[in-house]
Amino acid sequence: MNYARFLTAVSAARKPSPIRALTDLLMRSPPSMISLAGGVPNPDTFPFKRATIRLNDGTDIEIGESLMKKALQYSATPGVPELVSWLKDLQKKLHNPPTLSYSPNEGQMELCVTTGSQEGLSKVFEMLVNPGDNVLMDTTAYSGTLAAVRPLGCNLIGVPTDQHGIIPQALKDILSRWQPEDATNPEKNSPKVLYTVPNGGNPTGSSLTIERKIEIYQIAQDYDLIILEDDPYYFLQFNKPWAPTFLSMDVDGRVIRADSMSKILSSGIRIGFLTGPKPLIDRVILHMQASTLHTSAFTQIMIFQLLQKWGVEGFLDHIESVINFYKMQRDTMLACADKHLSGLAEWHSPSAGMFLWMKIKGVPDTHQMIMQKALSKEVLLVPGSAFNVDSSKPSSYVRASFSLSTQEQMDLGLQRLASLIIEERK
Ligand code: PMP
Repeated sequence: MNYARFLTAVSAARKPSPIRALTDLLMRSPPSMISLAGGVPNPDTFPFKRATIRLNDGTDIEIGESLMKKALQYSATPGVPELVSWLKDLQKKLHNPPTLSYSPNEGQMELCVTTGSQEGLSKVFEMLVNPGDNVLMDTTAYSGTLAAVRPLGCNLIGVPTDQHGIIPQALKDILSRWQPEDATNPEKNSPKVLYTVPNGGNPTGSSLTIERKIEIYQIAQDYDLIILEDDPYYFLQFNKPWAPTFLSMDVDGRVIRADSMSKILSSGIRIGFLTGPKPLIDRVILHMQASTLHTSAFTQIMIFQLLQKWGVEGFLDHIESVINFYKMQRDTMLACADKHLSGLAEWHSPSAGMFLWMKIKGVPDTHQMIMQKALSKEVLLVPGSAFNVDSSKPSSYVRASFSLSTQEQMDLGLQRLASLIIEERK
């Protein structure tokens, strides 16, 4: 892959910070090293000494005095090395990316910890998207992505989807405006990036099938696209076996994958991680060197202590219990929807994630109904237009989340929505 052709001028201009490079070096040096190099504060002056964190199962994770000093100190930009290494092993076990054995220039798999996957996503867009570029994504997309990518002044091209995500033929139809060889001609401005949420899409709840992924990867090869696989609901897939990821089929080194701990360990700790070809992940790390410096070392160490205690098997056991919870929540919401919304709305049962995406019949645009009338009925949902790639288009959809509500709240909430729809259609 010619990675240089994908980089924006801003990203290509980023240079390593010599001080940050030293910090990374120091993190890997033996304890006997005497460093007079860093401008770091002395952690002995910090007020925190140690921490014991009680887990739900009654056991504890300990951050003792010396580990606490590390947790309170500046750290390496790609992430606390022990956590990076644990997460690399996890990716290997879950996805076994073909790029694991590649050389760095060929696009060897690299990983960095980010402050939530949102940080990773926004930095990847900044790395890849110039003003005027064509960027491909589902016609209905995660609003945080739209917020990150719209200000870059690019042209968002919505790719039609159904309950199984992006429709490969629709993607081909869009790309037929270009020839595969246009990829090497900057004047043709052919798309370079395809962004998608492959499991339990936010807001649509849709999940790509393996067949579609294979076809989409093939199209990406034909048109030399980078696939940005934003997969925070990977660990919330209700059915086994879990679908193979784009990362697992990435023979070229053209996939950047964003993972998140937000839905399974905690959203507030802000831990995500990017996995992808080293030449691109290194660019994101350079951006971090100039912005956050690194994700909070304290939360990284807290998470590492937990993951080390659990091991991969324990981590996956925990995920199993999270899945069971959300699966029950989904089933409860579907039962409430059947009870109150039959004939008023249409939906598909999501196979992952935490959202039910409903098309309201006879309401061409749900925006006014939600923004002006839902409050008085005491029920809140997100109008579909908030996720439209083309923000000028109306949407007859609403997004309902089943993550937090009790059965009673879902029942009452959807009953209220039903009466709202009936009034709106009068
Ligand atoms: N991508 C999608 C599709 C999401 O739904 C979210 C969270 N709402 C994110 C990314 C950001 O997650 P994080 O908390 O890891 O930044």
